Amino acid sequence: MDTIPELDSTSNSENTGNDVVVINTAGTTTNNTVTLAASSSSSSGSSSRYENQKRRDWNTFGQYLKNHRPPLSLSRCSGAHVLEFLRYLDQFGKTKVHTPICPFYGHPSPPAPCPCPLRQAWGSLDALIGRLRAAFEENGGKPEANPFGARAVRLYLREVRDLQSKARGISYEKKKRKRPPPPQQLPPPPLPPPGASH
Ligand SMILES: [Zn+2]
Repeated sequence: MDTIPELDSTSNSENTGNDVVVINTAGTTTNNTVTLAASSSSSSGSSSRYENQKRRDWNTFGQYLKNHRPPLSLSRCSGAHVLEFLRYLDQFGKTKVHTPICPFYGHPSPPAPCPCPLRQAWGSLDALIGRLRAAFEENGGKPEANPFGARAVRLYLREVRDLQSKARGISYEKKKRKRPPPPQQLPPPPLPPPGASH
């Protein structure tokens, strides 16, 4: 009953398009779409979706701590443990991240398969950390002790973003568009001869 079919990649085969952080603690993927307020309230709808997702993420992290060897309590959880958790999630990722030696490195839509690893997309991890950070404080954690706000976590996320944007040839600022050409280095304009400026 309380075995957790957590993070089973086979149960997420419907999510082929974009990356979703695979959070599936209760094993109830089915009827969480009881849409009562179908009209008008798009904001309350999306915020309760956020709340649900946040609760699921928090449960998943709790399970992760519970299964951790050696055992780890939330109060002893540091930024390093959060990084460990994020790396653990990578095995369920669906975003191809090319290594620099891959011929498709920097290619936004490679024409052929390659053996590069699949990872969690930066955007998924970034959103996940934001939710967990909020959940930590809502569950009584002190802001100054929030492991999800640790500097190491911020740096790691920035690193992942840079790495993935380079590997895939996409810029996270302009996701929908092709990568713009690099800015041209224009030579400085020639100086006018002395006395020519009137
Ligand atoms: Zn590759």
